[in-house]
Amino acid sequence: MSKITVLDQNTIDKIAAGEVIERPASVVKELVENAIDAGATAITVDIKEGGTSFIRITDNGGGIYKDDVKLAFLRHSTSKIKSVEDLAGVSSLGFRGEALSSIAAVAQVELITKTAAGLTGIRYVIEGGFEKSMEEIGAPEGTTFIIRNLFYNTPVRRKFLKSPVTEAGYISDLMERLALSHPDISFKFINNGQIKLHTSGNTKLKDIIYNVYGREIASHLIPIDADMGVIKLEGYIGKPVVSRGNRNYENYYINGRYIKSGVVSKAIEDAYKSYMMQHKYPFTALHIKIDGEFLDVNVHPTKMELRFSNQEDVYKSICSAVSEGLARRELIPEVSFAS
Ligand code: ADP
Ligand code: MG
Repeated sequence: MSKITVLDQNTIDKIAAGEVIERPASVVKELVENAIDAGATAITVDIKEGGTSFIRITDNGGGIYKDDVKLAFLRHSTSKIKSVEDLAGVSSLGFRGEALSSIAAVAQVELITKTAAGLTGIRYVIEGGFEKSMEEIGAPEGTTFIIRNLFYNTPVRRKFLKSPVTEAGYISDLMERLALSHPDISFKFINNGQIKLHTSGNTKLKDIIYNVYGREIASHLIPIDADMGVIKLEGYIGKPVVSRGNRNYENYYINGRYIKSGVVSKAIEDAYKSYMMQHKYPFTALHIKIDGEFLDVNVHPTKMELRFSNQEDVYKSICSAVSEGLARRELIPEVSFAS
């Protein structure tokens, strides 16, 4: 008698995909992060029907070598780390090698890519984990992924998706956060043929804040630039007058990664405490740089949370830099955006 079977790879991939790919926005997050890791300076995201039927992501990064194309879609295949020791110093956004295999397991994927060294481009089609075709074609340097009919083969998952408008909203929020996290990259977001966001990539965080949040916020900013050795802080915080009723405007990026951290949020909010009413939250767009050795990014596949080994230092440094900024808020003219 035996009741136990080992699942086949396709089933394993479909189950694993659930961990990484929850909705169209997860696909966009993973593919845009890959484009960033590939050194792209321009990334375009084009979606239809909230990304449920169509997502196209084009980058001008380094491309994928012909011999790596099939490998890239295997589970746990990555060019970013080689061993667990590399995790401590990981500076790329990805390292698990799970995104492409997961996406390909639950959607129809078309990839067009070309490296600088490649004589031609490669077009590769994989659907539901099954390879359909691979051929050489002309293509510009960089990579385009087209993801069609997400969850077409996992109807239960598909049922859990919200309306296209809501799903597009999640992607729009994500694109804004990604643009704020990388002022040096030009992002374009097109929804049903309409350009919704276009940043220049001119490295000016303030321009992106204006672009995303509008004049009201952009004209009430306090610049922060603090070097505290192990931790460096750069960016903007809002004057207390532009507070909000929820944490949606509290953005911070650690080593270029959009994350959530109880320690960082508390440090920011404590600094604002005496300036704000209860249940009000500040606007911030802060870039925090911290030595990789103090970070554990390997917490959850979607990597939204992150652990510090020196929590107390992190708290104190951030709280004091934000407090110092707030203390000099009166010295900053009201409408400083036009300058
Ligand atoms: P990870 O990002 O964790 O390495 P992924 O499954 O997201 O894993 O991607 C697998 C590999 O495919 C990457 O390590 C990278 O080498 C390659 N790759 C994926 N997307 C791109 C891209 N847009 N440009 C260049 N290489 C890419
Ligand atoms: Mg990745």
